[in-house]
Amino acid sequence: MKSRNIDIFISGAGPAGLLASISFASLGYSVICIDPHKPVTHASDAGADLRTTAFLQPAQNFMHSLDLWGKLKSYAVPMEIMRIIDAAGENWPPKEKTTKDFLSSDISDLPFGWNIPNWLLRRAFIETASKYSNLELKFGLTTSSFIRRDDAAFVYLDDGSQIKAKLVIGADGRNSFIREKSQIKISRTEFSQKALTFIVTHEKPHQNASIEIHRSGGPFTFVPLADFEGNPCSSVVWMESNKNIDRLLALNSKEFEKQVNNRSCSHLGKLKVISHITAWPIISQIAKQLTTKRTALIAEAAHVLPPIGAQGLNMSLADIKSLYDLLKDTSRLSNIEEILDKYDKLRRLDIKTRVLGINALNEVSKSSLPIAQKTRALGINFLHSSPQIRQGLMKLGLGLE
Ligand SMILES: Cc1cc2nc3c(=O)[nH]c(=O)nc-3n(C[C@H](O)[C@H](O)[C@H](O)COP(=O)(O)OP(=O)(O)OC[C@H]3O[C@@H](n4cnc5c(N)ncnc54)[C@H](O)[C@@H]3O)c2cc1C
Repeated sequence: MKSRNIDIFISGAGPAGLLASISFASLGYSVICIDPHKPVTHASDAGADLRTTAFLQPAQNFMHSLDLWGKLKSYAVPMEIMRIIDAAGENWPPKEKTTKDFLSSDISDLPFGWNIPNWLLRRAFIETASKYSNLELKFGLTTSSFIRRDDAAFVYLDDGSQIKAKLVIGADGRNSFIREKSQIKISRTEFSQKALTFIVTHEKPHQNASIEIHRSGGPFTFVPLADFEGNPCSSVVWMESNKNIDRLLALNSKEFEKQVNNRSCSHLGKLKVISHITAWPIISQIAKQLTTKRTALIAEAAHVLPPIGAQGLNMSLADIKSLYDLLKDTSRLSNIEEILDKYDKLRRLDIKTRVLGINALNEVSKSSLPIAQKTRALGINFLHSSPQIRQGLMKLGLGLE
């Protein structure tokens, strides 16, 4: 059996695991990160993650500091407007009733964030990781067993190899093996909804706006992308009840496109679907602890929330940044339990607040009750009406307050 001795073992090479690997390698730690699947790094390849991530301002600062931004910036589309549209009511196709714009220029010289396709993120992260001789990314391997001792953690992989690490990071997603093996409990809410994601071209320019159209079932969101073959282009996240999603997925492509056009209230003119469609179950989940002996959970291993307000991966970056700051002094692995306690304290409240906030927004957005829909329209108007409330809300969403 092969045996290795390292500083940090990371289970899972999703966007969060890859970024954590680069972060800790940049501090000089020896890092191994493993994943059963090799990341797909081209949009047209089977299994490509067509979701996009809107990196909010604090996340972009962190990527800059890791020298990653240079690889991403030419693909990153700034988000300067957050447009909320209320299109409640029985009529189909729905009609816009209230439209409110929140402008990034109200709070800063910078955009709210920059939108980047997930498949491209993985490519940039893998290219950057290859620069570090103290970082090994290994694909085709699964973490299959794990024991924690006072002096080290012992991780066993499915090829029979063993790794002795001072710190183990669970970045292995919502069904995290590391979390389960550490007997960390979760609280979970199922929403009976799914999100469809796909890419569209459209007649009208998006003007760097992220556009959420609320009716029932959940928001229909346009996130701006770079032009495709000379046409304005956006990615779409369309949340609906499971029943409606099943119905939509059973349609042929022409019928599906018609429903997409209807649901968009023709806000950006005629839409053409130009990618395959992926469906994501909507849940919300929080790990009851973020750490145990020699172990930290990050990203979806620690928290999952509905895809509203671009919070998911941005919260994961905040997890990684907290650990990165706490581990800047490389001697600190000798004091790891204290560091882990601090990490748990630093992140717990922010995670809980954001998950509860997004759950509440989801409940408001999916409701088909006229009273809830009326309250939503009034709420949008109220939040937009006062500059102080509007600016405070935008800063809160960005994690600037
Ligand atoms: C529709 C949708 C839109 C979204 N939009 C945004 C957005 O705009 N902004 C934003 O910030 N967030 C967004 N999110 C959230 C974001 O996409 C997720 O937070 C992020 O992709 C999760 O990354 P992760 O690395 O935590 O998990 P994953 O990507 O799930 O990675 C986990 C990895 O662990 C591996 N793994 C599993 N088990 C093992 C094991 N035993 N051993 C080793 N490896 C293992 C898996 O193979 C996988 O590669 C969105 C989510 C959805 C569903």
